Amino acid sequence: MKSIDKAYINGEFTRLNGTEIFDLINPSNHQKIGEVVLGNEIDTQKAIAAAQEAFKTFSKTTIEERIFILENLKKSVEDREADLIETMILEYGGTRQFCTMSFQNMVSGFDSMIEILRDFEFTRKAGNTQVQMTPIGVVGIITPWNSSNSFICSKFATAVAAGCTVVVKPSEMSAMQTQVIMECFHSVGLPKGIFNIVNGLGNIVGSEIVNNPGVSKISFTGSTQTGKMIAKGAVDSMKRVTLELGGKSPNIILDDADLKQVIPQAVLGAYMNSGQACIAPTRLLVPYSRLEEVNSIAKEAAQQVKVGNPEDENTNVGPMVSEKQYERVQSYIKIGVEEGAELLAGGIGKPEGLENGNFVKATIFTNVKNDMRIAQDEIFGPVLSIIPYENEEEAIVIANDTKYGLAAYVSSSDEQRALNVASQIDAGRVCVNGFKHDPLAPFGGFKQSGIGREFGVYGLEEYLEPKSILL
Ligand code: NAD
Repeated sequence: MKSIDKAYINGEFTRLNGTEIFDLINPSNHQKIGEVVLGNEIDTQKAIAAAQEAFKTFSKTTIEERIFILENLKKSVEDREADLIETMILEYGGTRQFCTMSFQNMVSGFDSMIEILRDFEFTRKAGNTQVQMTPIGVVGIITPWNSSNSFICSKFATAVAAGCTVVVKPSEMSAMQTQVIMECFHSVGLPKGIFNIVNGLGNIVGSEIVNNPGVSKISFTGSTQTGKMIAKGAVDSMKRVTLELGGKSPNIILDDADLKQVIPQAVLGAYMNSGQACIAPTRLLVPYSRLEEVNSIAKEAAQQVKVGNPEDENTNVGPMVSEKQYERVQSYIKIGVEEGAELLAGGIGKPEGLENGNFVKATIFTNVKNDMRIAQDEIFGPVLSIIPYENEEEAIVIANDTKYGLAAYVSSSDEQRALNVASQIDAGRVCVNGFKHDPLAPFGGFKQSGIGREFGVYGLEEYLEPKSILL
């Protein structure tokens, strides 16, 4: 059993002032696998003070020095690939397939910032004015439990590229993964104080980061509900915020798409990270004229989905992260049935033989109306809603009829037609013909899916303040 009782502050593993203990439970079998001592306001203040002190010199480092650090950080992560993947699987039940992809995103987060830094202009001209892009200050990084380390890596890589220092508060449910990343970064011999981590609860450590005037910006990934609280708290000290929040992404299948190819992919896509992914395509929009065909292919695809042990490389859907999340997903399956949606696959209860963990059946509802709660709320579990549409115009209206706008997907055998539809979707990222990821492209949400962008040049600029010098 792992016991984690230190924060990482000013380049050292530091004993915590906080004493509360949080149990780490394996979601596959409910066994206790470890415990973490939670930090408090005093620990957080120490971390912020260290980051402020380090900012004085780190903000003045050269591009070459920052690239050198990013290269070392990348290598430190690559050296611990197996540990990083195994702790993810153990701690939150991410499937081996997904955790491997998440690990690749950790690495690409460093690569993309190195590439951008090579020709990024920190000093520019606007009219007759010199514009200096100056690092914003101490950045508070607050992350969720799903893929926590990939968010820590991409946000910290951006901070290093910009010349900012950070204080990280990961989800308390990610403490074992966080421990590995702390060890990776410690091994690099970073300048003291540029990277600090305090494990703890949102309303204690998170809240201190949000309210402390020593922090200049918050980069948050998590639920829309928490994002709103953070934005409200941040405004008092006029902190900048980047908020990466929830989603309910539409997946539009146009009438010329090859259903045998795209529907099984659509089913698996909705179950990405066991359905616990902000960008999962959870609303499958299909032409009425082809609904029967879609239902039959989707049902068969759901039967092929392997729910079970996340360590097994053939598993598509692992357990939900916690019993609370399991109960939440169950309650939505119940709501779907009560709302009159047609259950095509899965349903209430645990799959046979998997009663000891937080496992949910791979579930599909069809004939779903877009105003049903199962089509509007982010369920965060393996539950797909098939929503029929009459024509392309209606598909676009349905796709946009949501408070979210994080991701969207369009499939067609005619790429130009798909592109035309993609241009009309209110979402920060639209993938044409399959799931795609580009760490150089801006990522973020329209509407209640967030504020600001991460990744690429757009992401880097969010860590910089433009200063106009008029000579
Ligand atoms: P969450 O909002 O409950 O928690 C996220 C983080 O915020 C945790 O570290 C938590 O401790 C902290 N927090 C909670 N209350 C806080 C407060 N008052 N002040 C400061 N910090 C606080 O989210 P979660 O359940 O961990 O993650 C799932 C959610 O994250 C989903 O809604 C999902 O869509 C979203 N998400 C979004 C993206 C994206 O890139 N847009 C990516 C992954 C997950």
